[in-house]
Amino acid sequence: MFIDIHTHITYGKFEEFSEMLTRKPFTVETLIKKMDSEGIQKSVLLPLTNPENLDFYAVAGNQECIEACRKYPGRLATFCNIDPRNMLNFKRGSINSLIRAYKKLGCVGIGEVCATLPVDHKLYRNLYRAAGEENMPMLFHFVSGRYLNYGAIDELHLPRLEKMLKTFPQTIFIGHSPCFWNEIDGRLAEEQRNSYVIGPIKKKGTLWRLFEECPNLYADTSAGSSHVALSRDPEKGYAFLEKFNSRLFFGTDRFSSADEAKPLIIDFLKDAVKSGKISKKAFENITHKNYERVFPSAK
Ligand SMILES: [Zn+2]
Repeated sequence: MFIDIHTHITYGKFEEFSEMLTRKPFTVETLIKKMDSEGIQKSVLLPLTNPENLDFYAVAGNQECIEACRKYPGRLATFCNIDPRNMLNFKRGSINSLIRAYKKLGCVGIGEVCATLPVDHKLYRNLYRAAGEENMPMLFHFVSGRYLNYGAIDELHLPRLEKMLKTFPQTIFIGHSPCFWNEIDGRLAEEQRNSYVIGPIKKKGTLWRLFEECPNLYADTSAGSSHVALSRDPEKGYAFLEKFNSRLFFGTDRFSSADEAKPLIIDFLKDAVKSGKISKKAFENITHKNYERVFPSAK
């Protein structure tokens, strides 16, 4: 069974909007068809609300994702997205009431976290505290800050993230993006951080150490970034999957068009278990059991 923790849909009620932005609409109906054809039983929708990329991707926000879940009970779940610059987040405690409101509506986590602020910004810190108190895991897009982009900003080797993981041990941080996955490699250079880096991994990178030291760090296998990081040096990739299998979630992060190719990570994981490169237990944890354990309320 596959549960995809990282999907998006585009504005369903105003398809013209995607077209104006020269993107093809990726509606909830399209997503369900893709899931059926790829053997994915359930998907988690990640709304966008951040000004950096909301209209850029024409991705549906909180309310539309909640409506989509109601339309396809059992097939979809949703996170809520809360921008740390929301004024309810300006003082201690207020943002908890908003998180609880979204929980009542069925949301099971916070993200995709994309606000372009340093990972340890005081507004992010307030949100981490509240997310931990409300038991809502957060899923992040990380960036280097070297280029104008979207996502939580950190330096090479993620020192700010490390500090936050250790300051907020009750909060689950789920990492994603090139900037995050490239840290599988101990010889990563600053100029490589936002790109897809290929070739052998000669020295284990920051991710291996952070996963060992921080039990609240998780990751998803979505997008090209995780597939490249895990397949560029397959033996190292399999070793990473096996070693940290209890804190990895299957994910795709694709929403570009109805006719796009099947995400490569699906067959990569299937081949890995079939050839004995990873255990059946690791495969099951990554593809669905971790989700069921960490998100018990997600029906
Ligand atoms: Zn995404």
